[in-house]
Amino acid sequence: MSKRHQAVVVGAGVIGLAVANRLQSSKGFDVCIVAENIPDNDCTSDKSSMRSTAWASPWAGAHWRAWSSNQDTQLQKMELDTYLAMLDVAQKEPSSGISTAPGIDLFEEFSGERPWYAAKVKDSAEIPQENLPAGIRYGLQYTTLLIDVPRYLVYLKDKFIKAGGQIHKHKLSHIHEATGFASEISAARPAVVVNCTGLGSMELGGVNDANMYPIRGQTVVVHAPEAKCTVTRVGCLFSYVIPRGDGTAVIGGTAERGCWDDRPDAQATQMILQRTLDLEPNLLPGGERVWDNKSINEKTAALEKAIVSVNVGFRPAREGGVCMQAQTLYAPASDKPFSVVHCYGHAGYGYQSSIAFAESVFRLVKERSEAAYSTGVGNDV
Ligand SMILES: Cc1cc2nc3c(=O)[nH]c(=O)nc-3n(C[C@H](O)[C@H](O)[C@H](O)COP(=O)(O)OP(=O)(O)OC[C@H]3O[C@@H](n4cnc5c(N)ncnc54)[C@H](O)[C@@H]3O)c2cc1C
Repeated sequence: MSKRHQAVVVGAGVIGLAVANRLQSSKGFDVCIVAENIPDNDCTSDKSSMRSTAWASPWAGAHWRAWSSNQDTQLQKMELDTYLAMLDVAQKEPSSGISTAPGIDLFEEFSGERPWYAAKVKDSAEIPQENLPAGIRYGLQYTTLLIDVPRYLVYLKDKFIKAGGQIHKHKLSHIHEATGFASEISAARPAVVVNCTGLGSMELGGVNDANMYPIRGQTVVVHAPEAKCTVTRVGCLFSYVIPRGDGTAVIGGTAERGCWDDRPDAQATQMILQRTLDLEPNLLPGGERVWDNKSINEKTAALEKAIVSVNVGFRPAREGGVCMQAQTLYAPASDKPFSVVHCYGHAGYGYQSSIAFAESVFRLVKERSEAAYSTGVGNDV
């Protein structure tokens, strides 16, 4: 009998793909992915999976800016480990879509306690008070990571397939159905199912997590080749600029808890244009030099002409934070047990914590696989 373990990963967003690649790289696993939405190269077509708001990953900015508070040491570790791992990817694999850039975080409030990552990230320096814009109490600059989301998702997918992984496009009604895909890769050992379905975990049978909720995010993609650094304003006038490295920048944004409206809101678009022009004059050609004496209406009208698209996405948030745990579930008809490891609910930090979460999932799946092999739990395929 083969000594290899099997895993079926449900979900092909950044978390499912990071997990599948990590399991596969251990060489001890046969891995397949089952997902309703799968990254594709054709982001412009309306038929592209990348245009569906049914999943979060295509809609992120994305950049690395710590979400964890100074008290949340667990999430800090996930974000920092991923920061370090992504720095390495940026250096060694530029085709991945990950690169470094100067980052600036501007805080409207400051208790006197510096953000935890000030002492951890590369090239970190406080911005002198006299250089801070109006309404800002504390500023930090450092080297951050830019993630060109469509490119990075396709890079992860291609890497998985190239190493022999299979991806099945399918929507599951119940998590147990995932075990049915295991026999396609190897019937040697019971498969562990890994649930990386993001907001799908609300409706997925056998999971039905009532603690999940969306945080709606509206963003605008603009043509802005002169914007080179990320700038984030934290506070009441929350806004950010993320250059994508291809001459466009993602500017945002909104964070509306519990809102499922997928139609772009025109007022929010105007608000985003105005706030981000305040943050980064280089969104316009010539920057401050050219536009200094112009009114905000003139500047906004100029940036409006540079709009490529207005987008809405839903961050998969969860009361209590990410669900990461191993569980034994039972098949609805036969009542046979099978093993599941959950990893979903990454709200607005899925990219910047993905590699560390994948590492933790790998350890849980390995433990479960070994236990299942010795007890026979999961031999129901
Ligand atoms: C506007 C915006 C800005 C963001 N900015 C950042 C940022 O700067 N940095 C950062 O780190 N993060 C950011 N995020 C957050 C990030 O996008 C998410 O945390 C991340 O994409 C979540 O990934 P996921 O794989 O868990 O979920 P998803 O991307 O939602 O993927 C879920 C997968 O599960 C599949 N699935 C679901 N249900 C089923 C089912 N029943 N059967 C089969 N398949 C199923 C889906 O098809 C999909 O493949 C942002 C998000 C938004 C919306």
